[in-house]
Amino acid sequence: MTMQEFMEKIEKRNPGEPEFIQAVRGVVETIWDTYINNPRFVKNNVLERLIEPERVVSFAIPWVDDKGQVQVNRGYRVQQNSAIGPYKGGIRYHPKVNLSTLKFLAFEQTLKNSLSTLPMGGGKGGADLDPQGKSEGELMRFTQSFMMELWRHLGPQTDVPAGDIGVSAREVGFMFGTYKKLANEFTGVITGKGINWGGSLVRPEATGFGTVYFCQEQLKTKGTSLQGKRVAISGFGQVSWGAAKKATELGAKVVTLSGPDGYILDESGVNTEEKFAYMVEMKNANHNRVEEYAKKFNVPFFAGKRPWEVKADIALPCAIQNELNGDDAAALIKNGCIVVSEGANMPCTPEAVQAFIKAKVLIAPGKAANCGGVSTSGLEMAQNATHCSWSREEVDAKLQAIMKNIHQACVTHGTESDGYINYIKGSNIAGFMKVANAMCDQGVI
Ligand code: NDP
Repeated sequence: MTMQEFMEKIEKRNPGEPEFIQAVRGVVETIWDTYINNPRFVKNNVLERLIEPERVVSFAIPWVDDKGQVQVNRGYRVQQNSAIGPYKGGIRYHPKVNLSTLKFLAFEQTLKNSLSTLPMGGGKGGADLDPQGKSEGELMRFTQSFMMELWRHLGPQTDVPAGDIGVSAREVGFMFGTYKKLANEFTGVITGKGINWGGSLVRPEATGFGTVYFCQEQLKTKGTSLQGKRVAISGFGQVSWGAAKKATELGAKVVTLSGPDGYILDESGVNTEEKFAYMVEMKNANHNRVEEYAKKFNVPFFAGKRPWEVKADIALPCAIQNELNGDDAAALIKNGCIVVSEGANMPCTPEAVQAFIKAKVLIAPGKAANCGGVSTSGLEMAQNATHCSWSREEVDAKLQAIMKNIHQACVTHGTESDGYINYIKGSNIAGFMKVANAMCDQGVI
């Protein structure tokens, strides 16, 4: 079978799922030679089996809003692959959540978790709820209804979700509380928990910190560092916050943040405790528009635009999928950008990725560069399982070591003959090999 025939089969089986097909194609194109030249993988049909989720649940979420009206949303959990550990991946509340998005995220998560070096399978879930403007009471009732169904599919050795877009520590708390009541047990069934009831230090910052640690490794391969670099960041959430904090700490100047309304250009840098605290306050209030940042800190705001037109040495897309296209990539390249690390999942379109590779810009995909989040969730699971908690320094040191290992795996599997490190290829091959071998070891089941 050729790669094209293989992809045609996958497309036929998953109609109307463009994000899922985009993610699968991106992986298949880079691992095909590795796959097809391994008779054991081919005999066990591991690639097709890896693409097909092991289980998908979809369910109704009825709930009552503050006006007493009954609403209904749709919830999902995609349990993609459990070859190397329990399903693990976040829950997203966003009006655009659908099966295609969650299947792309669960598929990517499987390879990401494999890269993390920790024993975690892949999954993702969510609901088509728009959390913007919802009261705390509404979010609690909604989340309780969501968990009334989902809890039966979870368990510390079965499936361990976490937060994602629209689901922060508050919603994680409501999920955990509901699970605890229904299962009548206090177990580490979800990560991103509050620090007083099983959470891990550094988890809130981990994704953004990890993205910057990874970026630091990329820069080292070019003989340079973050010191004095201009950084363009998109997003205004948990990942952007962690990335801005760590990049600043390591000597870079972060000049942009963005929301769905546009971007801000802060030439003095997003670099004070006041600015970081404001980001946390907005995130906790589910507020992702940045125009108010511009007013509060008296900086320019560019309505309806993306930050990629700004001159920057480094780009960290930390908002949402497909937020950086081919034109954006061309603008960044023209302005001298040398490294791109994806804090978000699949924020660069395939055209953008190709443009960066062609221009020899070092581009790290989310499954490698934002792996610090799920890795620290894995560390939270380890602490829960042994009923202990580690210090901030201990968790941070483990996070740094994990990001370095992932970077090395990308270098090992992705270095081209001319010395260019193709992180897309490297991360896909490294992630795939581990899962594929485990699937072969466990038989056709
Ligand atoms: P946020 O809660 O901050 O959400 C990201 C927001 O980006 C969305 O709410 C969306 O707003 C907004 N957005 C949409 N389009 C744009 C745009 N063009 N420019 C800027 N912002 C836009 O999420 P997080 O910080 O938690 O996550 C960000 C990304 O990182 C996601 O891709 C997530 O999957 C990924 N990630 C997060 C991890 C974590 O630990 N939190 C771990 C690993 C990956 P709207 O709703 O109005 O469309």
